[in-house]
Amino acid sequence: MKKTDAPDYLALAESQLRDTTLRATDARIKVLAALLGARYAFSHQDVQDTLVDMDRVTLYRALDCLTDAGLAHKIAGDDRVFRYNAGSEHLEHGDQHPTQQHQHGHFKCTRCAKVFCIDNVGEKLLATDAKSSPDPSAASLRQQLQKVLQATLGKGFQSHEIELTIKGWCADCAH
Ligand SMILES: [Zn+2]
Ligand SMILES: [Zn+2]
Repeated sequence: MKKTDAPDYLALAESQLRDTTLRATDARIKVLAALLGARYAFSHQDVQDTLVDMDRVTLYRALDCLTDAGLAHKIAGDDRVFRYNAGSEHLEHGDQHPTQQHQHGHFKCTRCAKVFCIDNVGEKLLATDAKSSPDPSAASLRQQLQKVLQATLGKGFQSHEIELTIKGWCADCAH
């Protein structure tokens, strides 16, 4: 496949920015496009390596704006490096409906330190388990963990947010 067949991340980034109250500046479009096209979460340095001509301060500000607007999210690494990926950590901020919160997990490679986002963790785990469950919508990962929580700490405990991080070796490092 030639490069021209690649998805147009610049156009996608621009349309995502237009859906927010943020101004679609050139820097924000380019930074968001870089994140959208990335297979794993990017550190500041990774973004800088992709956008070599961009001023460092502009790049930092663009990342912060995108994160605040929910177009990107920030992941703290074990190496104290923050990494960024497109998309929000939670599909909706569920103060009113915490149970509808989107489950978003991460895979951290302990060899190369790359971080990958795992979307819809609850739904995907549920899908693989659908055969054994009579009603697939009845028991989500969240509900199962809520049971574990109450079984260990007591009935009064309620989970509102579950952070899932899987650590191991990524495909490149494992072979
Ligand atoms: Zn790796
Ligand atoms: Zn993520």
